[in-house]
Amino acid sequence: MDITELKQALFDGGVVGAGGAGFPTHAKLSDQAETIILNCAECEPLIKVDRQLMTDYIDEILSGMQLLVDTLGAQEGIIAVKKSYRASIEAVNSQIGKYKGLKLHILPDIYPAGDEVVLIYETTGRVVPMGKIPIVVGCVVVNVETVLNLYRKVTSGANVVTKFVTVAGLVKDPVTVEVPVGITVQELIDMAGGFTTDDSVMIMGGPMTGRICSVSDIVTKTTKAVLVLPPTCPPVTKRQGSSRNNIRNAMSVCSQCSMCTSLCPRNLLGAAIKPHEFMRALANGLTYQVDPFLNSFFCVSCGLCEMYSCHQGLSPRTLLDEYKGGLRAKGVKPPERENKPVSSLREERKVPEHRLVQRLGLHPFDVPAPMTKCSADIREVKLMLRQCIGAPCSPVVQTGDSVTAGQMVGQPPEGALGTCLHASITGKVTAVTDNYITISK
Ligand code: SF4
Ligand code: SF4
Repeated sequence: MDITELKQALFDGGVVGAGGAGFPTHAKLSDQAETIILNCAECEPLIKVDRQLMTDYIDEILSGMQLLVDTLGAQEGIIAVKKSYRASIEAVNSQIGKYKGLKLHILPDIYPAGDEVVLIYETTGRVVPMGKIPIVVGCVVVNVETVLNLYRKVTSGANVVTKFVTVAGLVKDPVTVEVPVGITVQELIDMAGGFTTDDSVMIMGGPMTGRICSVSDIVTKTTKAVLVLPPTCPPVTKRQGSSRNNIRNAMSVCSQCSMCTSLCPRNLLGAAIKPHEFMRALANGLTYQVDPFLNSFFCVSCGLCEMYSCHQGLSPRTLLDEYKGGLRAKGVKPPERENKPVSSLREERKVPEHRLVQRLGLHPFDVPAPMTKCSADIREVKLMLRQCIGAPCSPVVQTGDSVTAGQMVGQPPEGALGTCLHASITGKVTAVTDNYITISK
């Protein structure tokens, strides 16, 4: 198989970044790649998908990595696993001898080790310049589940119709389960034995970057976790503050201590983002100083500044996100900037994940969420037409059509960034709208 055939297979198979970002995988592949990095850092606390896939599907994942390295003509494949994932490391060590050009790299247990730019620096020492993508430093980063999906497509033609999701927090039996794409959050909660309290808030995704969701929300190809959390814990309260109050609080109590900047993982790698300068400019209405606002483009929204660093409980990430979104909506492009050297204090300023878990009040929920088979009888799925970064799919089926699991039901417009969409259960198409296709058994 050459790179063109591999890209076509991934496009046809609907393979997208399963780690949360959802970038179509075929569009990442390049014959300029020197290093392929497997991201088994499971960026956020409480999510247990990747480490368990590494133990349960180690041969498939390493074979998928070998295939990527060979097809792209890369020099090496790095299997990057966090130090505390002992079972995953054991699984890699037991099998890696069978593969040429793959090596294990143990990552520190820090947040956000899974951020692409941080991961590339940790594993290769290369710095991705601000506003650029990993291939400019010869790297392609792929998530564990994405590589499993790639392997399944290439070896058996299987299209992506399932998603591995961790369900944790205030549920009876935390689990990690492979479910059909398109089921509801309620069905996931049922698979975890149901809620243990009526007083909770659900977050889809990780506690640092996920969003508040409801039981009717739908699982997509990028859903990594559903966390049921107490309404008073920071991952919930931070998402409920109003913009007006966030700005007022910044005006009242930002002490300009600059701790948010000191611990910012992108700033430590030489990027121009300085949240304390942004907060000063915002709180004082310093609109004649445009740099602190424009530099919001270099914030990766990891949330460390507001969930961990700021001793005043302020919300730099949320405010930066709002500004960045506003600038994009007005057509403003990221400025050209040169990276500064990596901070000599970076090692001392890495944030240990166990400290972050404590700070977020999540330690009672940091328990195993064992891999479980989906035994539920799924009667209906709702397939969102937008499953990844890029263009939404256009339906290629109509209401009343019969479809079988794995059959293509949508594809992106000609030439647009995106991948194909497939039925995740066998049944009848019962609705086709601008946003989704419903299939019922
Ligand atoms: S850490 Fe908080 S108080 Fe300190 S500069 Fe940043 S936003 Fe202001
Ligand atoms: S969210 Fe905060 S800590 Fe994270 S990259 Fe943005 S400014 Fe830095």
